[in-house]
Amino acid sequence: MSVYTNEQVDHLVEGKLDWETTFRMLSMPKDEGRFEQYLAALQAKVSFPDRIVLPLGPHMYIVQSAASKKWVVKCDCGHEFCDYRENWKLHASIYVRDTEEAMAEVYPTLMAPDTSWQVYREYYCPSCGAMHDVEAPTPWYPVIHDFEPDIEAFYKEWVHLPVPERAPD
Ligand SMILES: [Zn+2]
Repeated sequence: MSVYTNEQVDHLVEGKLDWETTFRMLSMPKDEGRFEQYLAALQAKVSFPDRIVLPLGPHMYIVQSAASKKWVVKCDCGHEFCDYRENWKLHASIYVRDTEEAMAEVYPTLMAPDTSWQVYREYYCPSCGAMHDVEAPTPWYPVIHDFEPDIEAFYKEWVHLPVPERAPD
């Protein structure tokens, strides 16, 4: 018996759950095998041959390159950003909304933020234009590296699967 509803699993596959919830769902002892199902569902949606190691967002993954066996951050259009330990945002197309007009184009329902203390940074795939993340930092805040998942520990200790091969540097 699963403790999660079908709707939650759908949201999981669609990437609508945050990482913490995803992590908890995938590592529930009752849901042994859930992570494999989840990866298979994601893999079926992409057209590249690289094996998905871990999703980073609705359209972004850490994959094991079919050619080199190195782990890289990849958009579902096939665009490769960088090594999985790097901050992919530094390899994205970045659009900064730092005027009220630019904010109002896309965030009309927000109370107009004062752009001297808050801007919106949007991160796009340079190839297909998919938006992968939005930050609302203060203007001087450095580009945020969200998390560096301990993938080995996740595979071994949480989902009890063999860690995918990774070519040495
Ligand atoms: Zn893309």
